[in-house]
Amino acid sequence: MVKADAYGLGLRQVAPVLTRAGCATFFVAHASEGVALRETLGRGCAILVLNGGPLDDDAMALFQTHGLEPVLSSLPEVAFWAKARQSGAALPGCAVHFDTGLNRLGLHARDSEAARAVSPRLVMSHFIVSETVNDPNNAAQIARFAEIRAAFPQAKASLANSSGIFLGAAALHDLVRPGFALYGGNPCPGSLNPMRNVVRLDVPLLLLRDVAPGETIGYGGHFTAPRAMRVATLPLGYADGFARLAAAPAPDAKTGAFAILEGRACPFLGRVSMDLSVIDVSAVPHAALHPGMMAQILGPDITIDDCAARTGRIGYEVLTSLGRRFQRVYEETGTE
Ligand SMILES: *Cc1c(COP(=O)(O)O)cnc(C)c1O
Repeated sequence: MVKADAYGLGLRQVAPVLTRAGCATFFVAHASEGVALRETLGRGCAILVLNGGPLDDDAMALFQTHGLEPVLSSLPEVAFWAKARQSGAALPGCAVHFDTGLNRLGLHARDSEAARAVSPRLVMSHFIVSETVNDPNNAAQIARFAEIRAAFPQAKASLANSSGIFLGAAALHDLVRPGFALYGGNPCPGSLNPMRNVVRLDVPLLLLRDVAPGETIGYGGHFTAPRAMRVATLPLGYADGFARLAAAPAPDAKTGAFAILEGRACPFLGRVSMDLSVIDVSAVPHAALHPGMMAQILGPDITIDDCAARTGRIGYEVLTSLGRRFQRVYEETGTE
């Protein structure tokens, strides 16, 4: 799954690595993403577009030109594709998405007969809460999907996203569709992350200052220093995808984002502004502090899931929000 610019990490850099690791089928959300992916990878892999609809002649031409396969998700889309096939147009293959509970995209099981008219290469569905292993929705969706796929013996079947892969063999079928886990997110919340961290974000300290008790920090004056503090200003703001309300609501609350400096947790203070934020560096030995030193925002010590939980988000949001102003460096470490 490489939608949303490979979850914010860079489609053009990520997709070739996945190809080298053996991936031959890619999913994107929009046709425009499929076009960019085809340019990057050339021919030889399948590219499926999840939200291809509503289909019209222009959209179909785009699919044909770039060899993109639509994931048909409604009866009108199925009807359009079936009609184009009957007219003898040279069409790429297609997939059909069935809804098994999410009520977002997909045909109902009762529409299987209509879907047979397009001879899909793949039938798929999508979990509601696969990250909660014991949720009864998982077993219910697995059962519904098993019935649906039985009506398409020629087609491959796909149900599992990242977390779904960890629900056991009944969820796996022919093809799985991992996204979040590929990018280091924890597909098994509450358990140790089986995936390796892949993203690191470091920002330099712009400057250091001392704040006296009673002074406020940031727009709105929402944070008042309870004691003398040494603070550092970072070039990291909500325009970079960092949460405006990243700081803890009260000075010693257990929530709230922090940066890591010299191995110490340095909490964010006050409102994050567009381009800047402030952290408390009082816990770091003064002699070690100097402008230009790097603070870890995401990385081995602060996972995307930690950062998300501390800022009222999910890891998916943290990744897909990562700003366009960061200098991005890609390292390929090889597979083990
Ligand atoms: C985004 C998406 C996925 C990938 O989900 P992850 O939880 O990121 O692995 C799989 N299938 C569909 C239909 C999606 O929209």
